[in-house]
Amino acid sequence: MIKVVTIGEIVVEIMAVAPGKGFREPIELVGPYPSGAPAIFIDQLAKQGQPCAMVSCVGNDDFGWLNIERLRQDGVDVSAIRVHEDAVTGSAFVRYRTDGQRDFVFNIKHSANGQIGLTEAAKAVIASAGHLHVMGSSLVSAGIIEAVLFALEQIKARGGTVSFDPNIRKEMLGFVGLREALDKVLAQTDLFMPSGSEVLLFSQESSEETAVWDILARGVRAIVLKQGAAGARYLDGKDDLFVPAFAVEEIDPTGAGDAFGATFLAGWLGGLDAETNLRRANGAGALAVGRKGPMEGTSTRAELDAFVSQQVAA
Ligand code: ATP
Ligand code: MG
Repeated sequence: MIKVVTIGEIVVEIMAVAPGKGFREPIELVGPYPSGAPAIFIDQLAKQGQPCAMVSCVGNDDFGWLNIERLRQDGVDVSAIRVHEDAVTGSAFVRYRTDGQRDFVFNIKHSANGQIGLTEAAKAVIASAGHLHVMGSSLVSAGIIEAVLFALEQIKARGGTVSFDPNIRKEMLGFVGLREALDKVLAQTDLFMPSGSEVLLFSQESSEETAVWDILARGVRAIVLKQGAAGARYLDGKDDLFVPAFAVEEIDPTGAGDAFGATFLAGWLGGLDAETNLRRANGAGALAVGRKGPMEGTSTRAELDAFVSQQVAA
């Protein structure tokens, strides 16, 4: 089986118990939960039975070990997660507002994540990988960009493949080097998995519909458009299909896109047909939104298969 590597941030998430605005008064909190978009992604991928590794950095503290232990227990190769003696594990405090918006207090840039780079252990897992998954939102440190572009070149040169989830918020686009790095990644991408309107960040076309065709014409082999509670669409220049999401109660949307993407990637690498694969990935997204906590809603192959067959039968 092909080994997948991803490179990016690890954080703990600490959540406000009650919805409301921000953190300017003492409130009840719950956590720490293991988190970070690439970490959630790789956890789901491991639970799907795909060999995989993460390149990252945490501090030698409980927040770091909480993440390493969870990822290791779920089957991720953690040998390239550096434990830094002089840095603190990243964190994100999050509070949901009543309208579904979120307020954050982040410690990422000046955390151990700022120390992610091409260590010997990172080079070793990159050398063992046949597929690279890029989380665009992670490309906001010089060290991560360098490591991702190195992995991209090495893995493609060996005939390996690349998947790419931009996961971009507009405010990030100001980071020096991000735009250029995103474009370099897309130019080498085989499987592109944006959220609906993100495709407009990668094409001169003015509509989502024309943008996806433009991106396929530029050499991307397949596009999966994540459409939240609506479902997801798959296009590869030949097939164009949509599978609706499962109707579930949304308890915490964080991590749905990552669980979805990892599940679709596992199916894609295993040669699963696109329609079945979309249904399974939708199932992983539905299970993720049904659980409180970013990584708490990841699912094993057996859990996911049981959920999907139960829903289809209902
Ligand atoms: P994020 O980056 O916030 O994790 P995303 O934009 O990358 O999200 P979404 O499109 O929000 O990804 O979610 C991914 C998939 O998860 C959807 O395509 C869908 O299958 C599933 N999903 C998301 N929200 C819901 C929901 N409320 N009900 C059922 N399924 C959902
Ligand atoms: Mg996302």
